[in-house]
Amino acid sequence: TEACLGAIEDASALNAFVHNTPEIARAQAAAADTRIKAGDAPDMCGIPLGIKDLFCTKGVPSQAASRILEGFKPEYESTITQQLWDAGSVMLGKLNMDEFAMGSSNETSVYGDVVNPWRRGNDDAPLTPGGSSGGSASAVAADLCLAATGTDTGGSIRQPAAFVGITGLKPTYGRCSRWGVVAFASSLDQAGPMTKSVRDAAIMLGAMAGHDPKDSTSAELAVPDFEAALTGDIRGKKIGIPKEYRMEGMPAEIEQLWADGTAMLKDAGAEIIDISLPHTKYALPAYYVVAPAEASSNLARYDGVRFGHRAKIGQGDGITEMYEKTRAEGFGPEVQRRVMIGTYVLSAGFYDAYYNRARKVRSLIKKDFEDVFAQGVDAILTPATPSAAFGLGEMADADPVQMYLNDVFTVTVNLAGLPGIAVPAGLDKQGLPLGLQLIGRPWEEGDLLNTAYALE
Ligand code: GLN
Repeated sequence: TEACLGAIEDASALNAFVHNTPEIARAQAAAADTRIKAGDAPDMCGIPLGIKDLFCTKGVPSQAASRILEGFKPEYESTITQQLWDAGSVMLGKLNMDEFAMGSSNETSVYGDVVNPWRRGNDDAPLTPGGSSGGSASAVAADLCLAATGTDTGGSIRQPAAFVGITGLKPTYGRCSRWGVVAFASSLDQAGPMTKSVRDAAIMLGAMAGHDPKDSTSAELAVPDFEAALTGDIRGKKIGIPKEYRMEGMPAEIEQLWADGTAMLKDAGAEIIDISLPHTKYALPAYYVVAPAEASSNLARYDGVRFGHRAKIGQGDGITEMYEKTRAEGFGPEVQRRVMIGTYVLSAGFYDAYYNRARKVRSLIKKDFEDVFAQGVDAILTPATPSAAFGLGEMADADPVQMYLNDVFTVTVNLAGLPGIAVPAGLDKQGLPLGLQLIGRPWEEGDLLNTAYALE
């Protein structure tokens, strides 16, 4: 814990931590020592963690990296973080992220950009750690903490994990409680571990998972011993390679990475089969209708009355002006864009044309996966991202759709509610990390982790 606290101070230029909690960390570390001495210590006991700012932590600023939650200190603790503290883990502080988890580069945060600890060759230009869990990714990669929590609505654990060369797991929808995690798109949001290894991910998921009566979408399933599933034996497993993920214009390096990963799994005794997920091309547009629709509804609660920031209003201004000014000042441009898109696709005249149609597409995407799993496929291998980390500011003037294209390999998994994991798989020509993604059957994270373990 002391080493991490020191490292956080030294690495403040990364801007990964936005709020440090050294007093809490030292008290939890002392309590963990006592438990360890008493021989009553779960695996997560004494492990120093960073917590994404999207998690509500009691008495500690929890702002979802938004101005609108300025000064908000929750009266309660999210279920997931409570479970981690109950297991003896140590909170080092809160981690930077894209505002309300909307973004793929950690450039929409009120706290400013997060810097990726990696560099392109000899070039000093700072790179993005990805997003929205950019602070979590950067902090784990730079050894500021042993692991971090992330959340993933459309790739926000897996894409940043790939950009910094760590492991990131998005569990099956419903595996971990969403209670106390600031909502972005409730039918897609799922928290998960961001760690240095597959084994760490298995151990940490064990502490984060479980049924929670306070989240009606959390599954009433026992939490298996995920670590025990790491046998390294994947002989006879069927690994699907979906042809639709071979996108036009895909860099040769990504093609090569994918081929190398396929060969590794084959060498380990897996059976490789070509599969088709025919509705893949509609996933990104469907996601960018469903996610903003749910976001516009979830973010309606930030009205300047109940939480955080309230704008100063002029003489004669009424409650409508107060709402308008508060939301105009409190939400950044990307969040405002999402709220407007969401409100539009849910409006009476366009609901059927956009929202309902996206929901239908979502069902088809889910069915694509069900069909291949019914054919006996155990896991699906794809690249995690279409490129390595790009430069901070590089996409600033681009059309927002360019940024959305980052999520092309990850959003299908959220639309279908499946578990997905990104594992580091090598470096590109410029020495930057690249990741591969494995997608598993629902509730079979143990099996998925074991396949990822064979790739490690
Ligand atoms: N990049 C995607 C978005 O901006 C995914 C974000 C996420 O998973 N939270 O919506």
